[in-house]
Parts: sequence; C-alpha cells; structure tokens
Amino acid sequence: MKTLGKLTVVCGSMYAGKSEELIRLARRSLYAKKRVQVFKPSIDDRYHQTMVVSHMGVQHEAETAKNVAELQIKVKKDTQVLLIEEVQFFDEKIVDFCVAMADRGVDVICAGLDQDFRRQPFGPMPKLLAAADEVIKLRAICMKCGAPASHTYRMVDGKPAHWDDPIVLIGATESYEARCRNCFEIRKGRKKS
Ligand code: ADP
Ligand code: ZN
Repeated sequence: MKTLGKLTVVCGSMYAGKSEELIRLARRSLYAKKRVQVFKPSIDDRYHQTMVVSHMGVQHEAETAKNVAELQIKVKKDTQVLLIEEVQFFDEKIVDFCVAMADRGVDVICAGLDQDFRRQPFGPMPKLLAAADEVIKLRAICMKCGAPASHTYRMVDGKPAHWDDPIVLIGATESYEARCRNCFEIRKGRKKS
C-alpha cells in the first residue's frame, strides 16, 4: 500500500521555538533512517546561508531556495521527509506544493511565523494552516511581563513600530520581542505628506 503522507505546520511568534522544533523533528527522521531534506528561503540570511539556526544556537544543515519553483527542482524524487523553515517568506504557491508532496506520500513539516508585527496573518500561513493535517502552535515568553506570548512586537529606534513602517528601514535600529497581548504595542500609521 502507498505510504500515507502528512502535512505538519509548526507556527507561533518569534522565539516560540519553531526552529528548535523543526530541528528536533529533522533529527528524529534521520534517526529513523528516512531520506530527509531541510530547506529555507534564501532571503533569510540572518545567521548562515546553509544552516537553520535557532536563537539559542542549535543548528542543522539546510539547502536554500529562492522561490517555490527552485524548491520544486531541488527536492529529490526519493525524499521521504521534507522540512521547510521560515515558510512564511514563500508565496502562496507553497501551499499547493506542500499538499502535492503530502499526497505523494511525503512527510512535509513546515515552520513559520503565523502573524506579522501588526498581528496580521503572515503570507501563505492561513492557507497552509487550513491545509495541514497537524498544527503545532508554540508560544514564547513575553519579554516584558513573563506571560505566554503569541505576538511579535517590533521596535524601531527604541519605540513601537508604526503600522505602516516599511519592512526594511534604512538607517534605523530595529529589534523584535515576543510579547503577550497586554504588552503588545504598535503605533498608528504615519500620515502621508
Ligand atoms: P523561533 O524559531 O520560534 O523564533 P527558536 O527555536 O529560534 O524560536 O528559539 C527558541 C529559543 O529561544 C528557546 O528555546 C529559548 O531558549 C530562547 N528564547 C529567548 N528568548 C525567549 C523568549 N522570550 N521566549 C521563549 N524562548 C526564548
Ligand atoms: Zn506581557
């Protein structure tokens, strides 16, 4: 009988432990002697081009793909477990791709931010979560009060970001924190001049 594929999505805010969970699942699959491939989008070059690295420094080798088409080319025919890190950065074609892989019998595991710094659904995540067989939603710890945190708070030059601040800010210092709903902050959009 054909192997039954599965689509798992690991989601949550920054610092929730998504990368650690993805790495844990990749290692388990390797212990199980499965043929494993780990991918991340090539835009995420925060740490290392060919590594998945968690905030605590846990690492695992990864291949990069700049879009879904490249991912499709790089996935080997005999891969049994396919893991995708920072999946929120791929466009919506990733959803059909993951579903097709799972239909083919592959165990697909994706990790990604479910909300952006405005608490809005991030890229393809809503559709991916709807298509999943299993959703693992993790929470971080609020960096202000210590409560469980589901949100990613963006700070620009020491103050809460504006709603319409661009994703890339030239010349500004920015940082992100995990925050609970009581401590989450965002400023209204800037007026257009
Ligand atoms: P994610 O991929 O979701 O951003 P990582 O797997 O990279 O998360 O990092 C999770 C690790 O970060 C935790 O195991 C913990 O050791 C550390 N960490 C640092 N700050 C926090 C926080 N505010 N809440 C939870 N974990 C934190
Ligand atoms: Zn809080």
